[in-house]
Amino acid sequence: KTFEELGVSPEILKAIEEMGYENPMPVQEEVIPYLLGEGNDVVALAQTGTGKTAAFGLPIIQGINVNNRVPQALILCPTRELCLQIAGDLNDYSKYIDGLKVLPVYGGSSIESQIRSLKNGVHIIVATPGRLLDLMERKTVKLATVKNVIMDEADEMLNMGFTDSINAILADVPKDRNTLLFSATMSPEIARISKNYLNNAKEITI
Ligand code: AMP
Repeated sequence: KTFEELGVSPEILKAIEEMGYENPMPVQEEVIPYLLGEGNDVVALAQTGTGKTAAFGLPIIQGINVNNRVPQALILCPTRELCLQIAGDLNDYSKYIDGLKVLPVYGGSSIESQIRSLKNGVHIIVATPGRLLDLMERKTVKLATVKNVIMDEADEMLNMGFTDSINAILADVPKDRNTLLFSATMSPEIARISKNYLNNAKEITI
């Protein structure tokens, strides 16, 4: 199947064609039509390099209402490097969507400039859990309008001790959201977090 047949919109097709994406990778064939259709939650066992960023990124971008400049999607990831990489990929995918704002939020950089960007309004937040929690405690970010939450490299986030932070963050996102969990490995902790936060999730192993 082609990206077009999976339901990807013309603006996004143009951007990914320019990036050299010709055919969808397996995780993309599974996740993209599911999320563009009636699908809600996903738990995917997928390593880095399998195309997972576009698998969740393309349908998330396609679902953003650009005219409403409030956070509509939240992507949680373990490190600053991954945070910047995901935000960069999302910016590339949304190159032809006017006004779509993606904000990477991570520790070790100026919180003041992140607060300023949040004040200006963003549609997608890509965050490491510790810094996002800090911003939530300062009441400079509101998650009440978030419709999609993605936990990327969830096993790494749990290994790094972010379990309590993730629990605190997810408690602030409305329950009628979609929740997606990507992990390279399955473990009792991943199974528990899936059980706690995902409903009737589509299970994918790549
Ligand atoms: P990821 O697993 O999301 O880190 O993606 C791994 C690499 O594959 C990245 O460099 C992507 O830009 C690239 N990629 C993702 N999807 C495709 C595709 N359908 N065709 C070609 N390259 C892709």
